[in-house]
Amino acid sequence: MRDFPRAARRGATASAAVTAALACAAFGGTGTGTGEARRSPAWCKPGGTLTARAMPQRVKITDCDLRGRTVRGSNGLSAVVPSDGTSLVAHALRTDGAAELRIGVDARAGEITIATRSGRDPQGRPRHFRAAAAACDDGAHRPESSKWPKGTTVQWRYSPGTAGLPRDPIAKGIANMVNANTDCTDAKKFTPPPDIGENYAGQSDQGPNVTGAAACGKRDQANTFGWLAMPDAENDVLAATCTWFNGATTVETDMALQTQGRRWWTSGTCPAGSYSAEAVATHEAGHVLGLAHIEGTEHAELTMAPAVASCDDGPATLGKGDYDGLIALYGGR
Ligand SMILES: [Zn+2]
Repeated sequence: MRDFPRAARRGATASAAVTAALACAAFGGTGTGTGEARRSPAWCKPGGTLTARAMPQRVKITDCDLRGRTVRGSNGLSAVVPSDGTSLVAHALRTDGAAELRIGVDARAGEITIATRSGRDPQGRPRHFRAAAAACDDGAHRPESSKWPKGTTVQWRYSPGTAGLPRDPIAKGIANMVNANTDCTDAKKFTPPPDIGENYAGQSDQGPNVTGAAACGKRDQANTFGWLAMPDAENDVLAATCTWFNGATTVETDMALQTQGRRWWTSGTCPAGSYSAEAVATHEAGHVLGLAHIEGTEHAELTMAPAVASCDDGPATLGKGDYDGLIALYGGR
């Protein structure tokens, strides 16, 4: 089945043979030879990227086997649908908001579900402007679809990319989340810390499983965080994080900070128009641990708010809701 998209690209001369191969692939091999093979829907094109807008939110694998195919959401995010039974969430943090693409694979039920969410979409109810609550008082938090088992030490590898940017702010960002670093207490930490750990396991020569378009690619079982040139990403993308999960348990996360056309504040005073690498890495580490965005202007001071301004290092320290969310997921250590 995996050979199918390549076969389809061979061209029109082989079209008859390719069509037969498609029927086999699309129906999982069950429809052939019975004389009652169903036609796949028109949107289920044999090659290239499929558009979520054109397909139902719930797809029967017997109608169109999306596993291994790239699906693009209405908010511009895309991901390769996992073929190993895991589901995934793709996050992109943008200069003007954030976006999510969720692909649920339920092999037992034979269904794949696709959902997108974007900070730029209308939020249903009109949003009235409200002054942001102080980060130390705002307890709002929202869990992702999955988390690590309580007490896990998340082993991660660093991918340096090619832009000569340092590891330090990314390592600090992950530590900020795990250690619940904050400006809200004299000790500069919330206590107790959540029962989740992290460990730097060395440099990666593979890179994160994030594509040049800031899409989630095929996973490789290693948690890889680092810098990546994503030349095909939309202009406003700062970072992308992909989480793969089985049931409600996270099995892999990868994080990439955009180096292409983006200036980063990594030490000293902030060069105008740059973004704090530590702040962005802290926010992305929240996704790695299972925190979702908290939308709404009244929550704009939280690390998990879906936006970060240039030269804003505020998200590098946790607000009450960020901490409460970690405790809700993992309990105290
Ligand atoms: Zn985010």
